Amino acid sequence: MPHKRYAIGADIGGTNLRVALVDGEGRIVERVKASSTDNDVFDSLVSAIESLYRDGIAGIGLGVAGVIDREKGIVKSSPNLPSVEGVGFIDGIRERFSLPVCIENDANAAALGEKWRGAGTEFDSFVLFTLGTGIGGGVVYGGRLLDVAAELGHMSIEADGVRCPCGNNGCLESYASARAMTGRVVEAIESGTESLMKGCCEGNVYKISPEDIYNYALDGDNLARETLKTAGRYLGVGIASAINIFSPEAVILAGGLTGAWNIYVETAIKEASKRAFPELFGATKILPSLLKDDAGAIGAARLAFDKTGN
Ligand SMILES: [Zn+2]
Repeated sequence: MPHKRYAIGADIGGTNLRVALVDGEGRIVERVKASSTDNDVFDSLVSAIESLYRDGIAGIGLGVAGVIDREKGIVKSSPNLPSVEGVGFIDGIRERFSLPVCIENDANAAALGEKWRGAGTEFDSFVLFTLGTGIGGGVVYGGRLLDVAAELGHMSIEADGVRCPCGNNGCLESYASARAMTGRVVEAIESGTESLMKGCCEGNVYKISPEDIYNYALDGDNLARETLKTAGRYLGVGIASAINIFSPEAVILAGGLTGAWNIYVETAIKEASKRAFPELFGATKILPSLLKDDAGAIGAARLAFDKTGN
């Protein structure tokens, strides 16, 4: 088989669709970004691939938020992007482009991306958390992506905790994600807690974003600070559990919320240090992602190269 120079990798998350043309060294040659919530995701994906299409493509890799059936090529369940449930991604994309197509969970794809070209290249084992609207996870072990669901955001951390979109109660995601933070702020302000954030977004507290919360925290707002620290503390509970279970060389943290590193993540690291086995915690590096928003698309492209022997 002649060597193909490129693969297309797509990262279909709860908010954004990112599709990239990636070369054999893991560099992005060209990219397309669209919303994953405004239009039909499958149609948006097809037009993104069309705009990147050229000769020399080995295959197409898809990283999709949710629990994946790799054989059938469908998403079995996706609490943060229900519109993709049951969509026949593999068959649909293969039919249109006559190229090999493979599918993986989005955070698993991000872990593979970090292993290939990002913060994970020097580690044989690491656990990746994606911290955004929801919380995803991926595990690299023995130098390879572990073929498991790795839904780290849905580990139970409160036995009688709040309801999660997945149907369970007390999931990590419901306490440490962007949605958890903005929800907590709205609830506190509506129940009369004083905060500078009342003046944010022209008074529409439903529009407050995690970035707003972080900026108000830097300005000294108590509620903003407490919200980030509470979420960080729960994240630390999750990180400690991951360290105790996998004893990884590293924990890599990806996603928009890592922008609040000095409050949210620092609190998480402190909490994890109190909870994990000291010997294990001491042997684990906790690092930010290097590829940031590109990790999923680059990892999905790697998957396509791997599956086609390029
Ligand atoms: Zn859950």
